[in-house]
Amino acid sequence: MLALVPFFVGEHSDLLPGLAARLAETFGVTVDERPPRFDPELAFDVSRGQYNSRILLGQLLHERRPPFGRVLGVTGVDLFIHVLTFVFGEAQLDGAAAVVSTHRLASERYGLPPSSGLLRQRLNREAVHEVGHTYGLVHCHAARCVMRSSTYVEEIDLKEARFCARCLTEVRRAAGRPREPTARADDRRGA
Ligand SMILES: [Zn+2]
Ligand SMILES: [Zn+2]
Repeated sequence: MLALVPFFVGEHSDLLPGLAARLAETFGVTVDERPPRFDPELAFDVSRGQYNSRILLGQLLHERRPPFGRVLGVTGVDLFIHVLTFVFGEAQLDGAAAVVSTHRLASERYGLPPSSGLLRQRLNREAVHEVGHTYGLVHCHAARCVMRSSTYVEEIDLKEARFCARCLTEVRRAAGRPREPTARADDRRGA
C-alpha cells in the first residue's frame, strides 16, 4: 500500500484523487490519503526560502507504518537539495519515501495562461517518476519513458506518465520481491 501524504498543497488539493487513482493503476497498489503527523516547517531553510527535500524524505519515512510500504508526500512548496537550485521532487532509490511538488509545475509560474489540465498531467508524471525511483528504477533514456530525467518543466511535457517496456519489467520485478527499505536517499535530480 502507498500512503499519499499532502502538506501545504494550497489550492491544488483537488488534484489528489486523480493522482491517487493514477498511482494505484500504475503500480497496482492501494493508495490511501493520510494527513501528515510531522511538522514540515522543520524542513524550511531560511537562507534559501525553500524546503529541504532531504529532510522531508526523512520525515515522510517515519510516516510509513503497516500496512503502508511506501509514502509519497505531495506539496505546493518549493523544494531543493543542496547541490541544485530546485527539484520537482526527490525519492529514495529502492527505498520507501518520495516527495513531489506542484510549485514549479504551474504554467502561470512561467508567465503562461493557467492550465489545470497541464498541471494535473505534470504532477501525475512527476509523482510516477519519483515513486518509480522507490522501486529501484534509475533514469531512463527512452524518449517518452516517465523515468526520463527532466530539468525543465517543458521536458516533463515530452514524456508520458507510463514506463517504457524495460522500466515496466523492472517495476514488476521489484514489486514481486520482498524489499528491505534502505535509508539511502537518492541524490539524482528529482525531476
Ligand atoms: Zn524507461
Ligand atoms: Zn529522477
